[in-house]
Amino acid sequence: MKRNRKKYSKPCTAVLAAATAFVFTGCGSYGIQAYQSTDIAMGTVVTQTIYAAGGEEQGEGITGDILRLLRNLEQEKLSWRISMSELAQINESAGQEAGHGLSEDMEEYLAEILAAARVSGGAFDPTLGKVTKLWNIDGWTVGGQGEIPPAKEIQALLEHTGYEKVNIRDHRIYMEADTSLDLGAAGKGIASDEIKAFLEEESKVSGAVISVGGSILTYGQKPDGTPWQIGITDPQNPGSSLGKLSLEGSWCVSTSGDYERYVEIDGIRYHHILDPSTGYPADSGIRGVTILSKSGILSDILSTACFVAGKEKALELAELYEAELLLVTEGGEIVMTEGMKACFTPYTS
Ligand code: AMP
Ligand code: MG
Repeated sequence: MKRNRKKYSKPCTAVLAAATAFVFTGCGSYGIQAYQSTDIAMGTVVTQTIYAAGGEEQGEGITGDILRLLRNLEQEKLSWRISMSELAQINESAGQEAGHGLSEDMEEYLAEILAAARVSGGAFDPTLGKVTKLWNIDGWTVGGQGEIPPAKEIQALLEHTGYEKVNIRDHRIYMEADTSLDLGAAGKGIASDEIKAFLEEESKVSGAVISVGGSILTYGQKPDGTPWQIGITDPQNPGSSLGKLSLEGSWCVSTSGDYERYVEIDGIRYHHILDPSTGYPADSGIRGVTILSKSGILSDILSTACFVAGKEKALELAELYEAELLLVTEGGEIVMTEGMKACFTPYTS
């Protein structure tokens, strides 16, 4: 996987005048055409707009290849539900003295994930597997019905969570008994990185915007040379946008919000981002966080970590990782890093 982790250039050279957000034309100059598709993969909606030379067949081929890449990533690596996946086998090995041998890719993902768990003081916690299962987060439909698990059961499971329960040595992972990984907070960002690596090989693609759930990849250029326009959802009113980001070139934009997946129980909203110290939905005063970074996995990790950590710690984390951040508080305040301000144009009502 090719990733630029260290020094990132600024996301945009200037704030540019508004074009229609997230709408693309069918045809560009120099024989470059736009292809669009919407599908389901990795348990979420995947929308692709690809700018490439060649006929329709070419566009269909590329979007189809990307879908296959996502489905393979889920089935072979990241899904805890598919018993043959590497993650399921790692979980199966918990408590075994021999541990489990890691693929190169998985070792790389886990190194990033465990480092972020440490640096965030445990706000990001990949070992919540049994807790997210107990809440049945995967089974929730937005705004649907659910049940609050018994407090005693949550408490008992928290005994087996925490990044310190996981060790990686000599390309093998060792987990304590009853510890279980859930990489749902990093998987869509990993997908963005893998898609980007694929597009870099696929020379016919000059530009693309690909959204996998809450993670969006911009790649290359639009045929007319204008920046990519990415809408930022208003957490108070998820049907509309707060504003848009204007981005030059390739970037990863990940958003975590309390409106993305939740159930209502007795009039109270229980969302899918848990505070690892309590096992209940995080109550940090934040409703949504968007992170802009060159790295997909980091943008996904950080949007979740910052949501849990709260405003002050979120700003520290963004600075540490040289990522740009936008967060929306419960009171509706929008807080941004300087680099984010330079890309963001608010929609005024
Ligand atoms: P995201 O939408 O990227 O913020 O990821 C949320 C998903 O990650 C949830 O559906 C859970 O599967 C898992 N998760 C929930 N809370 C946490 C947390 N504090 N740290 C890591 N993963 C989490
Ligand atoms: Mg995330």
